Amino acid sequence: MASTRYDGDTWDLASSVGATATMAAAARAIATRTDPSLIDDPFAEPLVRAVGIDLLTRLASGETPPGEEVGQVWIDIAKIRTKFYDEFFLDATGAGITQAVILASGLDSRAYRLPWPTGTVVYELDQPQVIEFKTRTLAELGAAPTAERRVAAVDLRDDWPAVLRAAGFDPARPTAWSAEGLLGYLPPEAQDRLLDTITELSAPGSRVATENRPNPRPGDEEKTKQRLNRISDHWRTQNFDTDMVKARYFGERNEAAPYLTGLGWTLTGSTIRELLAANNLPPMADDDLRMGDMRYVSGTLT
Ligand code: SAM
Repeated sequence: MASTRYDGDTWDLASSVGATATMAAAARAIATRTDPSLIDDPFAEPLVRAVGIDLLTRLASGETPPGEEVGQVWIDIAKIRTKFYDEFFLDATGAGITQAVILASGLDSRAYRLPWPTGTVVYELDQPQVIEFKTRTLAELGAAPTAERRVAAVDLRDDWPAVLRAAGFDPARPTAWSAEGLLGYLPPEAQDRLLDTITELSAPGSRVATENRPNPRPGDEEKTKQRLNRISDHWRTQNFDTDMVKARYFGERNEAAPYLTGLGWTLTGSTIRELLAANNLPPMADDDLRMGDMRYVSGTLT
């Protein structure tokens, strides 16, 4: 059984917040198979298979249909989310930015599948076991990065800028930063510190993309926890022992978009509800997690 989060905790891709990276990759694998016009992540399925969580492997390979195991909306969100960040990086590099930083890269394979312009350097940051696993597994699969990929194996609650600089990061050059599926897994003050640090390390013209989750209304979080517990309970009956409530940090925090705006970033964005509609995907029927209000935002340091 997963334990509650604490400062300095660690994980691999089958435990705690690490398992959420494998879930995200499983959703991308299903989405790639069912809707290749929106998402094409050929590495998602083999990466999930290599992690070895049986239920997620069966879902990723299509042997077990999503249905009861994982709602279609999670798959649809994987499509729009992947497309949003893919387009963010392609726009940024198309505009001449040659340095990209993927914070909490998990099993994201952008460094191996996007058509990065020649000369682009892509940094990936995540916990050491996560970085090591993905690097080794993709090498074993014969995959080669499509940019100059450099890794920083580090906890994002620690002094990650030192590790990033040691890997060659140059703060004098404009950077495209992404923090995808990360902020809710950081304590509130670590989120603020991360956004402060991104800003400090950003030369003018840098870009950022992340998610803005609205602060909960009274009673919202209880509903969220109940819903996540129902999913975890069901998965436990399928021999996948995870606790999605314990992986996350709850409670009030500074919302990311206004916080970044206060630091000098000019942002635009769309909610999940809007992106589902814009991509001709069905609306969320039962949104007790208020996922539809989550906003994908991106912008430039002015
Ligand atoms: N961005 C990837 C994606 O969208 O597929 C992974 C998202 S997954 C939901 C969360 C990721 O955040 C995991 O890979 C986890 O290891 C990473 N993460 C969370 N907290 C972290 C921390 N304090 N330091 C380093 N990585 C962290």
